[in-house]
Amino acid sequence: MKFHLLTIFPEFFDGPFRHGVVARAAQAGTLEIYLHDLRNWTHDLHRTVDDRPFGGGEGMLMKAEPIFSAVETIWPEKTAGQRVILLSAQGRRFTQKTARELALQNELLFICGRYEGVDERVAEHLADEELSIGDYVLSGGELAAAVIIDCVARLLPGVLGNSDSSVNESFEEGILDCPQWTRPSEFRGWRVPEVLVGGNHADIRKWRKEAAIGKTKRLRPDLLS
Ligand code: SAH
Repeated sequence: MKFHLLTIFPEFFDGPFRHGVVARAAQAGTLEIYLHDLRNWTHDLHRTVDDRPFGGGEGMLMKAEPIFSAVETIWPEKTAGQRVILLSAQGRRFTQKTARELALQNELLFICGRYEGVDERVAEHLADEELSIGDYVLSGGELAAAVIIDCVARLLPGVLGNSDSSVNESFEEGILDCPQWTRPSEFRGWRVPEVLVGGNHADIRKWRKEAAIGKTKRLRPDLLS
């Protein structure tokens, strides 16, 4: 799968994509990441990507032209299986379900906003959709794009060692994952639940299901309603 990032800070991604699952998947060729510097599509001396908002108000907005030119250069003819995503606090909320949907595409192109946001014509006429990673305001779309790519990457076939490990996880069945423990079985007097040490697999399965529901009730009752 191919991921394109359109950003004024390509070097931002040196960190997030150089470690762990995403780095390994890139090395194995399961995914490819292309960084595009938005300023390459500006034509003035200062390589301007922003301007003042019509109607006044504080801050600057990202201009439409460089973003349209960039996307139209990267994908001169957009095909099915290619999705343009504008990161935006106003977008549809990104969830594990959205990650599953996106993992079925061939290529994703992320437009990372900065400043006070992006000229609305990008949302209306260029992006297939606006996605938000949560109800809070970040200072740029880069972090949000990195979050989404990380989630989608680990769902791609062959990326996680044990193919089960993306199935029995939080949100996959509408509830949280069950709590888990590793050795030692006793630490500072806190003991691991006896059933897990016992080795009766039917009992363990049943216990885990109940523990997952219990934890969901306690921490995320909204998931159960
Ligand atoms: N004025 C805007 C926020 C701009 S923040 C508003 O109130 O909605 C600057 C950029 O950060 C945005 O263009 C977007 O690309 C990114 N961003 C901020 N919050 C985000 C979120 N929750 N999810 C995804 N991207 C976000």
